[in-house]
Amino acid sequence: MRSFTTPLWQNREVRERLRWYYNVMNDLKPAKFLITKRIPCEVNIESDSNERLWDEHERLSKMFNEVLSDIKTDRMLLSELKPVALSYLDLKVEIAKRMLKSCHFCEWRCKVDRYEAKKLGACKVDSRSRVSTWFHHFGEEPPLVGYGGSGTIFFAGCTFRCVFCQNWDISQDPLNGIEINGRKLALIMKELRTTGALNINFVGGEPTPNLHTIIEGMKYLEINVPMLWNSNMYTSLESMKLLVDVIDIWLPDFKYGNDNCAMKFSKIPRYFEVVSRNHKIAHESGDMIIRHLVLPNHLDCCTKPVLKWISENCPKALVNIMEQYRPEYLVAKRPDEYPDIARRPTFQEMESAYAFADSLNIVYKPVS
Ligand code: SF4
Repeated sequence: MRSFTTPLWQNREVRERLRWYYNVMNDLKPAKFLITKRIPCEVNIESDSNERLWDEHERLSKMFNEVLSDIKTDRMLLSELKPVALSYLDLKVEIAKRMLKSCHFCEWRCKVDRYEAKKLGACKVDSRSRVSTWFHHFGEEPPLVGYGGSGTIFFAGCTFRCVFCQNWDISQDPLNGIEINGRKLALIMKELRTTGALNINFVGGEPTPNLHTIIEGMKYLEINVPMLWNSNMYTSLESMKLLVDVIDIWLPDFKYGNDNCAMKFSKIPRYFEVVSRNHKIAHESGDMIIRHLVLPNHLDCCTKPVLKWISENCPKALVNIMEQYRPEYLVAKRPDEYPDIARRPTFQEMESAYAFADSLNIVYKPVS
């Protein structure tokens, strides 16, 4: 058995809160996507209506969770489930492809046909996914990195327009990468895992506009590896339904404590409602490390409300309270337009954020 364990895993909080991820990472349990491949699907995938496909998806999600519970508690092994002709994962691939014809992968709900690409949506990504780079990332949170790094895949394009984006060359240019499909993505994932990656980390930009390629990639991947969703969480409810039974660990961003700041800095409407809803869904479905980037001068309007919300709604999550904000992209170019965030957070601001987290009993030290 391979072991990806480092001394960090002796920390009880980390071990308990990331138990499923730990087990998949060490090949003690199968990743969720491997289980979805063994759940039989009973639709005519070519001709049945969207409604019929979603009904079947709901039925299979219930079945999946019964099987998952048996596997978690050692009442069942993956090998006891026979290969099937048409699986729950195949159903997800088909639904995602159909969603592209009137795209509602995220809450912009542009309803554009991304196959036609006559009119692009807010992310400006057409039906083709592009990957800027992929590598073993050692800058992620310690449980995700270990000795082998996080197998991080950077998709071009994003659903947000953050004025301080550190990856703006990728996020704001959906053509900045090589075109890939599900088969090529599976090869990339296989290469990352077989060369020691602890997980497959879908990021960008933003993975959400590439949901169809990501789920299809899982269809062609046969090796065990935890799937990690590293996202701004502006995902639609339908996309969350496609994701919850294939993602082993969530790495969501919770940036803003109110909609005004979200609109001002990321040009995003309905931020708090959408992102908090999706955090709750993710928290109910699996292991989670929530990232909160502390913005200077935004402790009272963003950091404190976000931490308070997390403590009340996602009590099992680990939280990375991030101090690495620096003025980048448009803020660096035009600091006079964004005077409140035109500097790094101070030592006092970070201490105040940590003290507030302590007062709420938030577990952040192993990952911050
Ligand atoms: S992913 Fe979101 S932003 Fe992009 S086209 Fe679809 S709904 Fe619009």
